[in-house]
Amino acid sequence: MAVLEIMTTGHPVLKQIAEPVEFVNKKIRQLLDDMAETMYKTDGVGLAAPQVNVSKRIIVLDDGNGLIEVVNPEIVKKEGAQIGLEGCLSVPELFGEVERYEKVEVHGLNRNNKKIKIKAEGFLARIFQHEIDHLNGILFVEKLVNPNEIMIHKKGQ
Ligand code: ZN
Repeated sequence: MAVLEIMTTGHPVLKQIAEPVEFVNKKIRQLLDDMAETMYKTDGVGLAAPQVNVSKRIIVLDDGNGLIEVVNPEIVKKEGAQIGLEGCLSVPELFGEVERYEKVEVHGLNRNNKKIKIKAEGFLARIFQHEIDHLNGILFVEKLVNPNEIMIHKKGQ
């Protein structure tokens, strides 16, 4: 396992549409392991492959209830709305309110190429939407409820 370097705002990979994974092989499983390690090391709740400079449709997340890995994640159902504060490892020190669906159902593949379906709501649903946005080249700062109300939190403050 390895901690990977996180790309930040301005890096072109963050604006690309990531490619679907055809088959989850050993290399992809290694990437999943490294992404999880990187997420935990940086105290993140989610990480998308483009954030570690890999333009593939892969996300890992953990809302505090355990690691979830999804390859080729797709939101197939969505309902309701929630507004909440978001930040991003690729947009250091900035936080702002974003509107998301309250509930989503996500389909994709697990590390063994098996189809998986996950129903998420609240914070977990928010993380899914944030990470899947990364696969489409979208950062949370483009979706702020009020773009004038971005907050800056410097370390040590
Ligand atoms: Zn992010």
